[in-house]
Formats: sequence, C-alpha cells, structure tokens
Amino acid sequence: MAEYYSDSSSDSEFNSRNAEDVSYSELSTIPDHLIPRAREIRALKLDHNQILLLPSSISVFVNLLSLDLSNNHLTHLPKELTSLRNLKTLVVKRNGLTCSSIPKDFGLLSSLEVVNFSGNALETFPAQFTELSNLKYLYLGGNCISEMPNSIKNLKRVEVLYLGGNRLTEVPAEIGQLYMLAALILCDNHIQSIPPTLIHLRKLQSLSLHNNQISTLPPEIVRLNLSELSLRNNPLVNKFVQDMTYEPPTLLELSGRVVKIEKVKYSKDDLPKNLRKYLESAQRCVNPKCKGVYFSSRIEHVKFVDFCGKYRVPLLQYLCSPQCRTSPAVYHSSSDTETDEEEVANAKLRKVLLG
Ligand SMILES: [Zn+2]
Repeated sequence: MAEYYSDSSSDSEFNSRNAEDVSYSELSTIPDHLIPRAREIRALKLDHNQILLLPSSISVFVNLLSLDLSNNHLTHLPKELTSLRNLKTLVVKRNGLTCSSIPKDFGLLSSLEVVNFSGNALETFPAQFTELSNLKYLYLGGNCISEMPNSIKNLKRVEVLYLGGNRLTEVPAEIGQLYMLAALILCDNHIQSIPPTLIHLRKLQSLSLHNNQISTLPPEIVRLNLSELSLRNNPLVNKFVQDMTYEPPTLLELSGRVVKIEKVKYSKDDLPKNLRKYLESAQRCVNPKCKGVYFSSRIEHVKFVDFCGKYRVPLLQYLCSPQCRTSPAVYHSSSDTETDEEEVANAKLRKVLLG
C-alpha cells in the first residue's frame, strides 16, 4: 500500500491501475462503474465531458490525489468536494465557475498543491484559496478577476501565480510576502503600477507584465535577479519608442529655436508679449553635446541612472530631436560616473522593455 502514498511521482498517478481516465467520453456525470472501487482510485480524469453538475457522490473518492474536471459545463462545485482531504491537484479549467460556485469551506482541502481554475468566470480572487497553505501552483488566467485580496500573503508556499488575462488594476503590496514565488504572471490586465515590495521576492525568476497600463516602475525592480521580464505594450515602453510618433516642429518653434541658439537680440518693441513669453519658455536639450533648445516639440527619453549607488532609477528626460537620442553623446553626460557599462545596461534594458 505504501506506493499509494508516494507523492514523488505524479506520472504514476495516471499510469498505474489506480488512475481512471474517462475523459472525452460524453459523460454527464461520474460513471456508475467507478463507484464500487472509488476508494482505490488516486487519479481521476473527467475532463472534456458534458458534466453540468458534479454529483455529491464525488465524496466517496476519499483517496483521490488528482482530479481533472476541465472542459465541462460546471457552474457550481458541490460542498462534498471538500471531503477529498488528500487531494493535491485540482484542475477545473474552462468551465463556467464564478466565485459563488466555490464551496465556502474550500479551504479544508489543505493538501492542495496545484489549483487550476483558468478560463472560468471568476469575478474576484476567491478568498478561500488564500486558506490553502500548501498551495504551490495557482492558475487563475483568463477569468474576470478585478481585485486581489491582501490575504494573498497567506500563500506562503506558492511558487507560480498565474493571473494573466484578468481585469486587475492594482497589485497589493502583500504580494511581496510570497517569498517562494518563482513566476508571477500578470500580463493582459489593466495594472497601472506594481508595488516596490516586489524586491523581497528573492526567488522570482520570471515576471510577466506585458499588455498593462504601467507607466512607471519602482526603481527597486532593477535589483531583482530575473531571468525573464516582459513589459511590452505598456505606456512606459511606448515612451521608449516615441521616435515613431515624433511630430515635426512648427515654423514658430523652428524660428524660436534659431533666435535662442543664435542669441538673436530683441527688445520689447520688436516682439509682441506672447512671442516674448514663448521665447522665454525655451528648455535646454539634455544631450550635453547638443546646444539645442526646444519649446513644445520634444523627444521623451528614459534614462536609467545610478542612485545612492544602489538604485537605477528611470528618469524621464527631454531631447530636442530624434537625432539627439541616436547620437552616442546622449549616454555620456557630463557626469564622470557613467561608463561603457552603462551603455550596455541601457541597451539591455531597452531590449527587455521592447522585447
Ligand atoms: Zn538636442
């Protein structure tokens, strides 16, 4: 019997005689022939069937380690499901579950390590999930989740948190307490900023943030030791690729620039007040090799700068023309602390942001 309790290999769950695969069988319920030997079954695949309602007889499968109910028509999970106290893996992908579909005492399934509710209709992050203290992999992609609870911090063992394709606008600071987290997937949401507490996630390797509304990053993020970071299609990145949307300066701007650069003298009698005011509003281009000025036509340039020897802060600067950015001089300001290393780092970051 010892083999039944071996949890080292999940493959054996599906290959041994203790696994039942009745997927793709057009079933509308659990087949009767399984009930007499329910206690022997360790893994049950009921996915890709026509099940509308999981019968309460699910509770007799007390030794189940793994249950797959994906691709059915479930809109509700029976409270009897919580009798499966040995369950480690529960996969209920692509059904019609909402938050109220999940039993209130779902947290009793405390052996759960893998929970997959991707592709359902969850409107909020089910609070019961935060009671699953052994949870390692949580997949909630492709739902309608608009909020994450602060109690997410209870998921102390979670290694993979997948929340891509939801409606999140915020990420709670408590996420920084998920110290085992290796992959955090938040792409395809409406997130505007991410909390600086992310720096505490020393095991984080993969951070997916593409297709959001992020316009600034906490400087701390550059201290993370990530092997994967995706940021494409965020306002921050779009600032990087401004070249394409650069509008040519107006004739007023061009003549204003000439007046400032050539230091043309003018007096109150030469120019009306509004033009004098306009000329006073000139800003210097930040490229030290450029003596240029700009008025309203400018290029945004994000530059990463060392701060306190610890942080690299993205600073938003303005240049007078696209040529000022492509000139290598942009990366060599008057400060002596900047080196070729920074150029490489800038190029790398640029690649990361655009990739
Ligand atoms: Zn310039």
